[in-house]
Amino acid sequence: MVHTPALTVTLLGTGTSTGVPTIACSCATCTSTDIRDKRLRPSIMVQSSTTTIVVDTTPDFRQQMLMTNTTKLDAVLYTHHHIDHIAGFDDIRCYNFKQEKAMPIYLMQETFDNLKRSFLYAFGYATQIGGGIPQVEVHIIDEQTFMIGDIPVQPIPMLHGNLAVLGFRFGNIAYCTDTNYIGEHSLRLLSGVEILILDALRYAPQHSTHYTVPEAIAVAEQIQPQITYFTHIAHNLKHSDTEAQLPSHIRLAYDGLTLHLPSISAQAS
Ligand SMILES: [Zn+2]
Ligand SMILES: [Zn+2]
Ligand SMILES: [Zn+2]
Repeated sequence: MVHTPALTVTLLGTGTSTGVPTIACSCATCTSTDIRDKRLRPSIMVQSSTTTIVVDTTPDFRQQMLMTNTTKLDAVLYTHHHIDHIAGFDDIRCYNFKQEKAMPIYLMQETFDNLKRSFLYAFGYATQIGGGIPQVEVHIIDEQTFMIGDIPVQPIPMLHGNLAVLGFRFGNIAYCTDTNYIGEHSLRLLSGVEILILDALRYAPQHSTHYTVPEAIAVAEQIQPQITYFTHIAHNLKHSDTEAQLPSHIRLAYDGLTLHLPSISAQAS
């Protein structure tokens, strides 16, 4: 029996790697005045009454933390090392200053190896430390469930093209971004989830590392959550037009969307 406290999950960013609007694009989505067509890079925040977790530090991490007025951050989870998921890493410094301690980060070994290559100065190779370097407490994870404060975290192994990445399940909500393959074992780990946040880049053409909308719909139909929200959305998908075509239990996520989940005494995995 794993107790999961009541959780609030906030979509901090729902865009693909470029963000939406995309630089120098004048398409209908990029010029839309609908606030739901403004998408920062993909991330979520998961909060209990005592614990706050962010999944990935995107290039928009600073803006996302300012917009949500996040004055306390207990840990960062990383899905994988692509730049749209790590490039705000340096801004962890602000929490180092405020909280006067290293930030716990949870990631796979391969993700850590790549994070080190991308931020050499933070891992022993700084030639000069002017504004300080991000201080982190590294936790290497695999698929075992672990706790951050009072929140149990179930990693969900997935493939993103050839790259092994992690989704995360928190009680009855799961976040599965940057994937185009969720295997049988991980589908079982997702069994019984009520809310699924799932990668869906665009309708077509098929992509080598992300689900398209039809592929993501098929995955959602396998997992059968009560509601699925698509994320990592490209500018090909205008919010209002796309939602009009989707079944009512499948929606497009948007930046700032906040989901509330009651506490549960056990999770299906
Ligand atoms: Zn991505
Ligand atoms: Zn565009
Ligand atoms: Zn990626």
